[in-house]
Amino acid sequence: MTRKPLIAGNWKMNGSLAESRQLVDALRAGITAGGAAAATMLLCPPFVYLPAVQGWLQGSPIALGAQDLADKPGSGAYTGEVSGQMLREVGCSHVIVGHSERRALYGETDAVVAAKFKAAQAAGLVPIVCVGETLEQREAGQTRSVISAQVAAVVDSAGVQAFSKAVIAYEPVWAIGTGRTATPDQAQEVHAFIRGMVAARDATIAAGLRVLYGGSVKGANARSLFAMADIDGGLVGGASLTAAEFLEIFRAAA
Ligand code: PEP
Repeated sequence: MTRKPLIAGNWKMNGSLAESRQLVDALRAGITAGGAAAATMLLCPPFVYLPAVQGWLQGSPIALGAQDLADKPGSGAYTGEVSGQMLREVGCSHVIVGHSERRALYGETDAVVAAKFKAAQAAGLVPIVCVGETLEQREAGQTRSVISAQVAAVVDSAGVQAFSKAVIAYEPVWAIGTGRTATPDQAQEVHAFIRGMVAARDATIAAGLRVLYGGSVKGANARSLFAMADIDGGLVGGASLTAAEFLEIFRAAA
């Protein structure tokens, strides 16, 4: 089965409205019809910029996503939260859930990540669920057990069928924003492990599942990562803030 690569830009809490406009305009100008046919480009700006970015993307093949959403479906008294339905309304197709920064800095547990995953799907969004081990865990030989627990928490809660409309991002925590990238072989090993976990429950869903790599992806290393059999694109932080760099990464996948 061929899996169309996905290149997602996670802007995190960066940029002004004016800088965001410049970035979007440059990406629009740089993406070709052939590139868009071969791979999907997704931008995940901060919540408050979503409506503006949606407007600037009109008529372009670039998709819009959010960086997080509420773990509660529907609406209600949840001060400060943003629902999946609201994200759909402003044009999002995807949403990142369980990013390591959310897990480490905001205390998101596997249970919360699973609830967000289900809330996203209930709203018609494709969740991009992030998993990854810390350096200490890798050095202690715990990579597989950590990834296994993080993936199982979502699969057990949402069911394997839910992964026909979901994306997994393998993001080793030690590689995020550090300039240290997993080697293509290191990443491939974990990607194959993740696909194997899903395949043990449903081989067809596993074959169609996109597993992205994230962690200091740059134009210079993207091609060798995306050449691996089980790497279906990237979740890109820092390098997604520079149009030329992000376009180079995109071209490596397209
Ligand atoms: C990320 O934000 O998910 C990420 C992988 O960041 P960076 O590309 O900067 O390492």
